[in-house]
Amino acid sequence: MKKIAILGSTGSIGTQTLEVVETQGDIVVTALAAGSNIKLLEEQTRKFLPKLVCVWEEEKARELAVSIKDLPVRVVFGMEGLIEAATEPSAEIVVTAVVGMIGIRPTIAAMEAGKDIALANKETLVTAGHIIMPLAKKRGVNIFPVDSEHSAIFQCLNGENKKTIHKVLLTASGGPFRGKTREELKAVQVEDALKHPNWSMGRKITIDSSTMVNKGLEVMEAKWLFDVDMDQVEVVVQPKSIIHSMVEFKDGAVMAQLGTPDMKLPIQYALYYPERRFLPGERLDFWSLKEIAFEKPDMVNFPGLSLAYQAGKRGGTLPTVFNAANERAVEKFLSREISYLSITDIIEGAMSGHTVKENPSVEEILEAENAAYEYIESRW
Ligand code: NDP
Ligand code: MG
Repeated sequence: MKKIAILGSTGSIGTQTLEVVETQGDIVVTALAAGSNIKLLEEQTRKFLPKLVCVWEEEKARELAVSIKDLPVRVVFGMEGLIEAATEPSAEIVVTAVVGMIGIRPTIAAMEAGKDIALANKETLVTAGHIIMPLAKKRGVNIFPVDSEHSAIFQCLNGENKKTIHKVLLTASGGPFRGKTREELKAVQVEDALKHPNWSMGRKITIDSSTMVNKGLEVMEAKWLFDVDMDQVEVVVQPKSIIHSMVEFKDGAVMAQLGTPDMKLPIQYALYYPERRFLPGERLDFWSLKEIAFEKPDMVNFPGLSLAYQAGKRGGTLPTVFNAANERAVEKFLSREISYLSITDIIEGAMSGHTVKENPSVEEILEAENAAYEYIESRW
């Protein structure tokens, strides 16, 4: 039996991971971690009986400890608890499905402890890829991508030599506002931005998809995972999300992975790699699909993508500033403090005011994160 820990078990990726675990029936869950949703975490704990559960908020952790005192499960809290969950000794794979840069330290701790990572938390690679990738090599651990595009690329590279990659073709749906101008985007409300045409995901990534910031984060994620230059990663808009991504090799051959939009496929592939298991669900029907259309991404009305290219090419602490400014701006948009277009304005402002530090340590990454937050608080 494979043993796994899930950080962010109550979220979109976390709950779908547990669905895969339940359907397959041969994975043991040894640790679960969540932010504050103790109601769902209790249900999950009763069902999967991990050894350890972590709740970020101390108060809520104590509440959960009381309500599950009949179970042989230890309850921990805060960053220390999250790291404990990430390093729970019996787990072989840690699914990193927390949202945001909070994932950096637990991911590093899990790798240091020799665990493979099923990586959904792209913010960690974007900000600390220069630490994560060499660490994986040093510790001999695998990073299995869960992000659907990166899983697709990973699948296209099966049996191939990474050195023969000419281009990575990262597909994008274009989000709910594809084709709109900045003028038309001025009036966008939270409810509009939370409606993704093809995928049902957590709130932050849904907003990121609408601004194309998610695609920008994914370009940087691809750079680290597949050891390519930013210029080798090209974004191709394919509105129906049928092609999950492609690789063009040196000889001109293009490999693609297709399927219906279902995150359980990349999650299951990451958990069982290199094995493929049966996955119930809808299959691609080419006859009703008829055609697959492509467009160029619109980097003028959606500057999130061009800012990401800038950040990824410059490197150092700039991707952290891009990411941290976006995290805070999205929070502010979701709490209706700022307008939709201010999200990318904030990212741009934070990036232009930043003095880049090369090859930052984890501490320096966290300092750059705080500097971005301070900039936003002082200006917005
Ligand atoms: P959700 O918002 O749905 O879930 C986030 C999870 O993280 C929840 O379990 C939440 O707990 C937990 N969490 C939040 N803060 C903390 C904290 N401080 N300590 C511990 N746990 C915390 O997000 P998603 O599942 O959509 O996304 C997770 C990650 O996966 C993101 O990095 C995203 O970019 C990436 N991803 C997601 C995809 C998707 O389809 N959803 C696709 C590709 C990548 P609580 O419920 O208690 O708040
Ligand atoms: Mg994705």
